Amino acid sequence: MIGIFGGTFDPVHYGHLRSALEVKDIFDLTELRLIPSARPPHRQQPEATTSARVHMLEQAIENQPGFICDTRELDREGHSYMIDTLKSLRQDFPKQPLLLFIGCDAFNNLSNWYQWQHLFDYAHIVVMTRPGFEIQHPDAFFTARQILQREALTQSAAGKLFFQPVTQLDISATVIRHMIAEKKSPAYLLPDVVLSYIYQHHLYEKH
Ligand code: ATP
Repeated sequence: MIGIFGGTFDPVHYGHLRSALEVKDIFDLTELRLIPSARPPHRQQPEATTSARVHMLEQAIENQPGFICDTRELDREGHSYMIDTLKSLRQDFPKQPLLLFIGCDAFNNLSNWYQWQHLFDYAHIVVMTRPGFEIQHPDAFFTARQILQREALTQSAAGKLFFQPVTQLDISATVIRHMIAEKKSPAYLLPDVVLSYIYQHHLYEKH
């Protein structure tokens, strides 16, 4: 099974990395593709440049076997729609189950994503629980797809919904950016190599 973990990674932090590693092990993924979004359609645009976000992500996962920084969204024009990313991944992996991992804050907003119902045509969706964000009661569209046994994900290539608790780390990129702008240290919330890059390139110094 191939895992997909999209995000702005502005910057990547231990909340992303710890949950990515846990799901890689829990689901026995052959690889986990971390996919930086170029122009996220549903939120404020990233502060750091695309190349800085990619560079930080690449450095953060350098020593983690099976983690891949997948830059396919950066090569496309226009908004970074997940549906297009999944179509493109499905061409690369025609038969394997694809697992799209999202936090529950992202899940609560899923029905605003472009062609969100069709995401299930291309992948399973696994929602990772996240501190401070409650899962809103899923509607009938979701409950029809929800499975309770993780093993069922291996039996089809796409179409199911599963909720997976991950270790609760209350870390967000927004808080890290604010700490830097306020000259407070975000050390231990993200890898040292990422923090060094941020300081070296004077990222996030202004609100
Ligand atoms: P920002 O604060 O800028 O919105 P973020 O920290 O939420 O950023 P994103 O890059 O937007 O990070 O998130 C990418 C994905 O990672 C989303 O699915 C999000 O739910 C998930 N995620 C982010 N932080 C955590 C965390 N601490 N624990 C688990 N999942 C997380």
